[in-house]
Amino acid sequence: MINDTAATKKMQEIDSLKSNDTDHPERTSQNTKSEGFVDKEKEKENKLAKNLNKLRVKKLDSLKVTKYAKNHVSPNTHERMCKCGNIVTFLLDETKEKVKVEKAEVCTGRFCPICQATKAKKDVLKISAVMDAIEELEGKAFIFVTLTAPNVPGEDLAKEINKYNKAFRYLMQDVPAVAKINKGYLRKLEVTYNKDRDDYHPHFHVVMAVESYYFKSRDYMRREKWLELWKSAMKDKRITQVDVKKAYRSDSGTGAFEISKYVAKSCDYGSSQNVFDVFYTALKGRQMLVANGLFKQYFKKHKEGALAKYDAKDETYYKYLAVYHWIFKKNHYEQVIFEERERETGVHTE
Ligand SMILES: [Zn+2]
Repeated sequence: MINDTAATKKMQEIDSLKSNDTDHPERTSQNTKSEGFVDKEKEKENKLAKNLNKLRVKKLDSLKVTKYAKNHVSPNTHERMCKCGNIVTFLLDETKEKVKVEKAEVCTGRFCPICQATKAKKDVLKISAVMDAIEELEGKAFIFVTLTAPNVPGEDLAKEINKYNKAFRYLMQDVPAVAKINKGYLRKLEVTYNKDRDDYHPHFHVVMAVESYYFKSRDYMRREKWLELWKSAMKDKRITQVDVKKAYRSDSGTGAFEISKYVAKSCDYGSSQNVFDVFYTALKGRQMLVANGLFKQYFKKHKEGALAKYDAKDETYYKYLAVYHWIFKKNHYEQVIFEERERETGVHTE
């Protein structure tokens, strides 16, 4: 049973996972340098400053990517991408220690670093709620499976992803040992780019619902078995990397986080025009997150609002509102409004 305290705790865990996530550790390290003595007031100021700096890094990335995307998208889409994140409204709690983005003018582009981060955050909350509901209401457990194959050159990426899709379908539907244990899965395609070797690494992250007694049953499959089946589904003897692990209840946030991570990171596809072209062409029109069985059913329930009690709740009272505008010539955000909000009744949920 998820009570409100548990839901709030989950929210905090997810928040802390998110704050560990950064596309550019080298560019944000300046924020974390220790100064020995930190003024409490300064620390609070830093919280908003930290958020702004993260957003600034994403906006700069977004501008770079927008330039690369120009030949691929319509003039309208291009304009929307240019404007993405230009106006951002933050909410702060009474202590100014808790900060969140209330709204922002966004483009919803698949390759927009700002919009990717927003979507990943929403996905992690949704997936986490759905996993908790499946566990509690259906009495199921979960395994995480990562399926990989050797890297491919850019010109083969699209073909390789097609091969992954076909092999995965075969594995799930036509291999009895897998079809038998699968009660529903969520599959995420992720592609990384290796700068040194100039090649690409597509792989699948899968979270699969299984019977709670699966781990002690005769249907249980060891990693070696998964590897053998994946190798044969891909018809590739060179495959050595398959990762399988049991998910624990306390992992639902972490697992949801793993699967909600970006399909591709801006530090990868923003490497150069050529690399962007490869990513864009290979991923265009593809469904990145595929839900099956119980996951499909429970996403529908979640959409219909039937799983509200599993959603993480943010009951913070946000006292202040701050609006920032992006200043193109200066490449940074400037504050245009900072005000106290009128107290609302009711609970803020996200
Ligand atoms: Zn955007």
